[in-house]
Amino acid sequence: MDLDPHACYRAISTRDARFDGRLFIGVKTTGIYCRPICPARTPRRENLLFFPSAAAAQEAGFRPCLRCRPEAAPDLGVWRGTSNTVSRALALIEKGGLDDADVEALAERLGVGERQLRRLFRRHLGASPIAVAQTRRVLLAKHLIHETRLPMGEVALAAGFGSIRRFNETFQRLFGRPPSTLRRATAAGPTGEVAILLPYRPPYDWPAMLAFLRARAIPGVETVSRDGYARTIEIAGAHGTVAVRPIAGNALRATIQFPQLSALPTIVARLRRVFDLAADPEVIGAHLSEDHVLAPLVAARPGLRVAGAWDGFELAVRAVLGQQITVVAAVKLAAKLVAAYGKPLSGATPVSDGLTHVFPGPERLAVADLSSLGVVRTRAAALVSLARAVVADPEIFGPRRSLEEAILKLRALPGVGEWTAQYIAMREMREPDAFPAADIGLMRGLMRAMVDRKGRRPSPRELLARAERWRPWRAYAAQHLWASHGLSYDRRGAPDGPPPLRSRHDPGLAAGRLRADGDPEARDARVGRAARRRRAGAGRAGRHRALARARPR
Ligand SMILES: [Zn+2]
Repeated sequence: MDLDPHACYRAISTRDARFDGRLFIGVKTTGIYCRPICPARTPRRENLLFFPSAAAAQEAGFRPCLRCRPEAAPDLGVWRGTSNTVSRALALIEKGGLDDADVEALAERLGVGERQLRRLFRRHLGASPIAVAQTRRVLLAKHLIHETRLPMGEVALAAGFGSIRRFNETFQRLFGRPPSTLRRATAAGPTGEVAILLPYRPPYDWPAMLAFLRARAIPGVETVSRDGYARTIEIAGAHGTVAVRPIAGNALRATIQFPQLSALPTIVARLRRVFDLAADPEVIGAHLSEDHVLAPLVAARPGLRVAGAWDGFELAVRAVLGQQITVVAAVKLAAKLVAAYGKPLSGATPVSDGLTHVFPGPERLAVADLSSLGVVRTRAAALVSLARAVVADPEIFGPRRSLEEAILKLRALPGVGEWTAQYIAMREMREPDAFPAADIGLMRGLMRAMVDRKGRRPSPRELLARAERWRPWRAYAAQHLWASHGLSYDRRGAPDGPPPLRSRHDPGLAAGRLRADGDPEARDARVGRAARRRRAGAGRAGRHRALARARPR
């Protein structure tokens, strides 16, 4: 990665916040590395080295500054957009991919050679994969020391250090002092609860994120208040809760109640995914704005994020449940599912009222009789088969070598067609280029955005063609189109499954228009609707035929 020294120096002389998270500065005379916004006096140009990542600075022997605290910089690592392999590798590392496996195994999972992976890391991050994983651990530990009252032994465990001795040695080597001396006198918080700051790069459209989550909140599992989100969580059989709200200084504050601190890195990684904290809105917005149709949408909501999912199986179940029905109806079904099959929350004092159950896991649904749920039999069967498939392959939602491979793998799941696969890739696998092209909300959004200029509505095919220029950020384009239509952001809107194709407001986009596209789920939805219509009238044979054709793939 090339860093122009003159531009870098200009950025730090002016403490330009736009470079925060993109640039780290090593000061040769002190051996310390800083963020561009460090309040300390700017050293002379010849005493500085510039690095594209904290790991690179640390690998070069610099230690984190105690004033600007590099651990509090927005971590933009995962979605640099420059190399998909690096992005996916970082996502795996964030999930602990190098904790008990080596770089060779990591490379193999990504379908590249070990040397190539090292080369890519060097080029894009200026550091080796191991250095990235180690730096992540150190910075999380330092953050926990600084912000919480956790005993040092628990900090070591929570940050993923194998032993307290290694933790002490690392801190002694890096900071020249024992970790406990880095504790802030005012660090607070009730015991049994860990509060963590999750920094992001501004702008951040928090109201839009909250509205998206509010419309989909499953009673018992999730609550959304005026300015915060909370939910129950289950990791390796243990229950807990998390609550997230924004605070001053471009960060979210997560309050975590969980019995096993060793799960903390996993919880932080998942929260970063749900709230899309690795996004670089400036880079994404600049690219999308090159299309004159999207430019005004981006200008209207510059901080729009793609809401991620807490858990892949939960998202897939919701997506299948939501096929052909509205968000409101899908949420009601999900609530019924949770009440019937979710485990009551145990062993934790909820951080928010109204949290009573954890979402049922695949093991539970794999053996469930879903006939009382009130969905068509084929859908109930699809849910059970989906649960069985996830039990058989728990890594099914893990990062793949490419978006295409991910989609292929997901589409092999029962009940998952193209739309659902793209939707899961977008929200669970955080594929920034995932794009559920057959989505009627997207077509309406594009139609609305284009109609003033051309006076003509686009076809699904035109939507896909137009989306080519939005790569590699099509997921964000989709979010803007949904938001422009108000679809994702009210209770009627773009559901956790393909929306109903019939619309009183959009006769021009009736199902027939989609036939040309040949999208299997659009077809499923159309057939499903036809089936319902026939059920209402007569024609038993037609109904059976329609249902048979509607069977989820
Ligand atoms: Zn500093």
